[in-house]
Amino acid sequence: MLTASTRQPEQAVSRTRIDAGDYYIGTVKAGQTLRILDLEGNQAADTLFYSAADPTERYSAMDTIREQGNVYLTTGSVLRSNENRPMLEIVADTCGRHDTLGGACATESNTVRYDLEKRCMHACRDSWMLAIAEHPEYGITKRDISHNINFFMNVPVTEAGGLTFEDGISAPGKYVELTALMDVVVLISNCPQLNNPCNGYNPTPVELLVWNE
Ligand SMILES: [Zn+2]
Repeated sequence: MLTASTRQPEQAVSRTRIDAGDYYIGTVKAGQTLRILDLEGNQAADTLFYSAADPTERYSAMDTIREQGNVYLTTGSVLRSNENRPMLEIVADTCGRHDTLGGACATESNTVRYDLEKRCMHACRDSWMLAIAEHPEYGITKRDISHNINFFMNVPVTEAGGLTFEDGISAPGKYVELTALMDVVVLISNCPQLNNPCNGYNPTPVELLVWNE
């Protein structure tokens, strides 16, 4: 559901730009609201959420989909953990669809989906691994890298139940906003993928804004 926000960027307590192919890791406190802004359009932000108190509790696509009875994420979606606790709620969304089924790109999937020579291309899983290696203070390990949300990515389910990577429906300035319901660690790979339409074949930056309320 398309819902605009009344929050003003000037009142944000932090603004962070993530360049194309780069990562972000940081904490959002309970009650704070995070906006992910697609600056130039058609960009996938591959995102994982963890409980800041215990990173073995993390975002779960299965619990989220089951509880809301829908495979797409948009305004009103409550993102649930693997302990079925509410972690964040989407409170505004001007894009309208975010994928939680397609998973993130990896060098291995690049070889299976595209070509053996694509193995050396930068992929989201590499960015996450770099993030947790450079920031051990969050206590996140390789085994905690699990299924993720692809904000702004369009992966429609066909009538036969198939998944297809479609051209993005996002556009410059579209955003999604989430209010944290517990203290969470946010880990984002701003997707560098060049072999499918998820970034419009041209990865671009996104911006994160946080408000205290
Ligand atoms: Zn990716």
